[in-house]
Amino acid sequence: MPKDCKTVWNNCLQYIAQEVGGQSFKTWFQPIVPMKLVGQTLTVQVPSPFFYEWLEEHFVGVLRRAIDRELGPAGRLEYSIVVDKGKAPKGPGVMNLPTSKVPAHGAQKNQPVQRVPKKAPTQVPSAGDKQSNPFTIGRHDRRSFDSQLNPKYVFETFVEGESNRLARSAGLSIAKNPKSSAFNPLMVYGGVGLGKTHLVQAIGNKVKEQHPDKVVLYVSSEKFANQAVEAFKNRSVQAFGQFYLQVDVLIVDDIQFLAGKEKTQEVFFHIFNHLHQNGKQIIVTSDCSPKELQGMHERLVSRFKWGLTADLQEPDYNMRTNIIVKKLQADGFSLEQTVVDYVARTVQTNIRELEGVLVSLIANASLNRSEVDLNVAKTTLQHIVKNIEEDIDISFIEKQISDYFGVPLEAIHDKTRKRNVVIARQVAMYLTKEYTRLSLKAIGRHFGNRDHSTVSHAVGAVNKLMDKDPSFSRTVDELQAMFRKQAG
Ligand code: ADP
Ligand code: MG
Repeated sequence: MPKDCKTVWNNCLQYIAQEVGGQSFKTWFQPIVPMKLVGQTLTVQVPSPFFYEWLEEHFVGVLRRAIDRELGPAGRLEYSIVVDKGKAPKGPGVMNLPTSKVPAHGAQKNQPVQRVPKKAPTQVPSAGDKQSNPFTIGRHDRRSFDSQLNPKYVFETFVEGESNRLARSAGLSIAKNPKSSAFNPLMVYGGVGLGKTHLVQAIGNKVKEQHPDKVVLYVSSEKFANQAVEAFKNRSVQAFGQFYLQVDVLIVDDIQFLAGKEKTQEVFFHIFNHLHQNGKQIIVTSDCSPKELQGMHERLVSRFKWGLTADLQEPDYNMRTNIIVKKLQADGFSLEQTVVDYVARTVQTNIRELEGVLVSLIANASLNRSEVDLNVAKTTLQHIVKNIEEDIDISFIEKQISDYFGVPLEAIHDKTRKRNVVIARQVAMYLTKEYTRLSLKAIGRHFGNRDHSTVSHAVGAVNKLMDKDPSFSRTVDELQAMFRKQAG
């Protein structure tokens, strides 16, 4: 008696149920519907391309064995992928999966084989908070899709400098032409407070402004991971994936957060692949370079390198000044030039901190109804600026200073009163005070057995000279940048 497709598939299912976990079985096999059996080729219907990919990626072995048992070695499995009639955006629903993805064992998929009206998903995924039904991004909804972007992060307020030039111009170019950008994916990385979120949101906002029909979605990795976990729990992973596949520009912030989260990374990997294959733009940020990303799947990290990786560095003195001026302007506020210089010189770690300091200064001034002069600025900053958490080795500091000023180490330690040596020594004391936890007494002892009052005098002298002489202050600035890197 010829077998029918239902019997064959049910037998396969019995075998598969023994082989895979109960949860996986429910999620990935129960939704499959047997369609037809022609000769030794069984066709099954799966709900989406995402679903198909997932099966091929994770269950190809067990599927092969099941088919072997039922149909023999010549048995084949074909997939029919449900395509949402009419409503489906052009992308994911009818995507052409590259043939390399079709495994060698003979299982094949049909390119949009069948247009079966799609049933509403039983589980509504939690993706994208406000979009209740992930399948409803139809033509008319594209403009009102909530991109989760903060309108305050735009290019107009993003100050350009040496430290962000590449990332910024890549971002602008993507924003202008998100469809065929040369930078896909774009990975922006850099330390905290250097403008990653601002920049990638600015890209998203600009895309929306110039291409209102594009679906842009910003999501933090934390939120993405939470949604994924929720989807695993609710067995709505494929609906979750499907939701993301409808996006034209996907922005995922702080991807390092996915470290160690294997399953979430896998879902992201699939989404990434689909979007990328369909020419959709992906933008991710990370607090470190791809090379340093720990706990991330290598295949995911290597994807990041396909496009452009651009880093944001610490802003230099010039850029810090520009940022201060721009922020003050935006707030309708002004500060004396000396104060601007002082703040730019003192707050070097990152832009977020710089903003924090400005807010304090402005608050201070309006509370006291007074001008912010240099003294007020210094007092305010005293409580805020704490640049370095980790000590740097004192021998590193003095070596750098000796190199920088071209003064031998011995001279720094001995009694020489030559002006250039005195300055180098004072700067060494000043920076040792700043970057180590050594007491004034200990620092004095280290630099030629001097008294603690000599050290505090040196600190005062360096401060004074920096106020007076911009080029000297830049010198100290450069040394500090070097030590910060070391403390990194
Ligand atoms: P990150 O995501 O790298 O931690 P953010 O993007 O949150 O940093 O930036 C921290 C703050 O600094 C934000 O308020 C942002 O607007 C501001 N900022 C960062 N870079 C710039 C820049 N180039 N010009 C102006 N403001 C900036
Ligand atoms: Mg951020």
